[in-house]
Amino acid sequence: ESPFWEQLLKKNIVLDFSQREAVKHVDGPLLVLAGAGSGKTRVLTTRVAYMIGEQKIDPRSIMLVTFTAKAAQEMKERLSLYTNRASMNGVVAGTFHSIFYRIVSHHEPSRWNHEKLLKWEWQKEQFLKQTGRSLGLDEKEFPWDEAIQMISYWKNNLQFPNDIKASNKTEEDYLHLYKEYEQWKKTNEFFDFDDMLIGCYELFTRDENLLQKYQQRFQYFLIDEFQDINKVQYETIKLLAKSKNLCVVGDDDQSIYAFRGSDPSYIVNFDRDFPTTKVVTLSENYRSTHAIVASANKVIAHNKKRKQKSMNAQVDNKKSPLLFFPHDEEEEATMIVQDMKERIENGDNPNDFAILYRTHSAARAIFERLTQSGLPFSIDQDYDSFYNRRIVKSMIAFLRLSHDKNDVKALTDILPALFLKQSSLQDAKAISILEDCDLAVALSKISNIAPFQAKKLKKLVPLFSSLQAVTPTVALEIIEKDMGFSDYVKKRGNEGNMVEKGSDDVRDLKVVAKKFSTVEDFLAHIDDMIAKTTEMKKLSKQFKDAIRLSTIHRAKGLEYKKVYILSVVDGGIPHDFALEDVRNGDYHSLEEERRLLYVAMTRAKEELFLSVPQNRRGKKAYLSRFIKQILPN
Ligand code: ATP
Ligand code: MG
Repeated sequence: ESPFWEQLLKKNIVLDFSQREAVKHVDGPLLVLAGAGSGKTRVLTTRVAYMIGEQKIDPRSIMLVTFTAKAAQEMKERLSLYTNRASMNGVVAGTFHSIFYRIVSHHEPSRWNHEKLLKWEWQKEQFLKQTGRSLGLDEKEFPWDEAIQMISYWKNNLQFPNDIKASNKTEEDYLHLYKEYEQWKKTNEFFDFDDMLIGCYELFTRDENLLQKYQQRFQYFLIDEFQDINKVQYETIKLLAKSKNLCVVGDDDQSIYAFRGSDPSYIVNFDRDFPTTKVVTLSENYRSTHAIVASANKVIAHNKKRKQKSMNAQVDNKKSPLLFFPHDEEEEATMIVQDMKERIENGDNPNDFAILYRTHSAARAIFERLTQSGLPFSIDQDYDSFYNRRIVKSMIAFLRLSHDKNDVKALTDILPALFLKQSSLQDAKAISILEDCDLAVALSKISNIAPFQAKKLKKLVPLFSSLQAVTPTVALEIIEKDMGFSDYVKKRGNEGNMVEKGSDDVRDLKVVAKKFSTVEDFLAHIDDMIAKTTEMKKLSKQFKDAIRLSTIHRAKGLEYKKVYILSVVDGGIPHDFALEDVRNGDYHSLEEERRLLYVAMTRAKEELFLSVPQNRRGKKAYLSRFIKQILPN
């Protein structure tokens, strides 16, 4: 044995025969297509170590594309076993976006000044709405989120406005907006995240000399999670990898970014583009117990579009994944927190646990319960308090305004729901001073709005008083039905993406409202929770050992001893919109949802708990069809 493998062994890093084969195949294209937990990421990081430590390859000639910072970190740790830190720092490692951005901004620093980055969705939305107005699009009816998503999809697919033929009116509108959006960015020298990728691709297609330099500089490429690569990323890598020393690893069953243009056919057909590809399959699962592997395999087997793979568990243990049936999402949260608490008291570390969910909005109850429990937990920094969500916030603002008829902030928050402009706030303020009346009352007196709106406001304003005298549940009903809030939700409900629906938020809020008998108590609880969210988000960065709360998408590639999956019911996973597609005869998103569940289940090392609330969002819920299918009759 060479010193390299001895060193590995000493550090307890074992590789099986196939894994070693993949590590040692350094020259020429290599594909590792294998199931979850089979050690693909371990192969990738060890391979970099092997290349530098054993083969003395120049670290600067290696590009490693990882999905998470954690994987890059792991590689660095492993590398430090055989070589000094300085040499591993030479490896160019990171996500596609970070690596490509480094390249373009190096060559055209002024064009890629980070201050010109359009970081937020709302920046795009604002522009599109403005433009849409001049195109005669209905601001309230038009699906802006979908337009943003479609434009991004086109860009990642390297489809530029002139290449696209719209097949219907909506697509024509999207296309029109796409053109205007690109023009606007150009004029103002803005760029978005997708432009980083396109910019890099274009840099190399435009400048043959520069491309050649990079082709010489980078001789080795390693890419993790290759099932989620999209066209612009793939084409750029193909340009760069003239050496053909390209090692890609992935699992088509874990492709979960179709909405961003990911296409698993790149991994499945990799050897067509690179005919000399050596294919290594890994069929041992080193992460999870036998029972967990068996059920995850059974779930994914129902997908029609997939490459057959076998997976054997190495870890044995009798514990089967456990289904549990709380009454609703409140009890779901209580049961999970109670369970974790007991286990932690009995010696488990909080970082053994992860709670995974389909969408951020599903984390509301568990977040509250955990906050109250005092257990340490961490949550994605992009998680916003449930009560800060646009729809929720404005619905609550109705209650606040009923409570304090001069609450300026509340009035500001309800204006969009009444389809009023922010300038109406100034009008109301002026009237309240001139006529010495409450702000809320002034609302019914503002002029220079459409007559039908004025009429609506006159009917609506007196209702604020009625909100105080009833239970929170009834108050929400009044806001929704009598004060026109449901129109707003119908027209403007989506929270910046297609899977998080405003109508779900309303139903979630009603679930919380049920627990309180007065509007006052309800509002006090909400204020408490908003304050705690800010506090917890700050705290959660400090905890060294913390329970992990995460969406399934963000848990990709990671592993935890014990995993709870929330709301494994139809409408949860699979998500409602996938079920809607099924009703229209389209099974693509259903299969993607199944892959999501597969990803979630395969994060668990020792124990897996699937929660099946009997009621969700105030309605009866049913066990997810994905699990139902695999249960013995
Ligand atoms: P995913 O598809 O979820 O990204 P993966 O294929 O990348 O999974 P890894 O994360 O590399 O899998 O490995 C899963 C777990 O198994 C890790 O804890 C890893 O350290 C461990 N492992 C990998 N190979 C071996 C091995 N030969 N012997 C023991 N443990 C291993
Ligand atoms: Mg991995």
